[in-house]
Amino acid sequence: MSESASESFHGHAHHVAAPPPGVSVRHDWSLAEVRALYKLPLLELVYRAQTVHRAVFQENKVQLCSLLSIKTGGCPEDCAYCPQAARYKTGVQAEKLMSVPEVLKSASQARAAGATRFCMGAA
Ligand code: SF4
Repeated sequence: MSESASESFHGHAHHVAAPPPGVSVRHDWSLAEVRALYKLPLLELVYRAQTVHRAVFQENKVQLCSLLSIKTGGCPEDCAYCPQAARYKTGVQAEKLMSVPEVLKSASQARAAGATRFCMGAA
């Protein structure tokens, strides 16, 4: 990521794989069951969550991603929640769209640093 680029967040879809054998996904929770879950002690919840996590994902492994703002601030849209919208005075200097070579350089740096996903946000 270049020093002049700032980070931004734009949501993106994550692929959700089918659960492995022995792991089921329920869609038939009763209200009483949900209430019982809600009232569980925190560490019991953590234990159950970790049990499912280890059945589905490799333990102690995370995917490394890099997110680069390729155009920062000054967006002509006006999404009320977003500080990138031009109407907000954030004190952040708006930047023009980065060039393709600059973006490619950042992507290469991200890959060299271990990222396997490179995301770009443009205000
Ligand atoms: S960058 Fe622009 S389009 Fe995207 S959320 Fe912010 S205001 Fe909306």
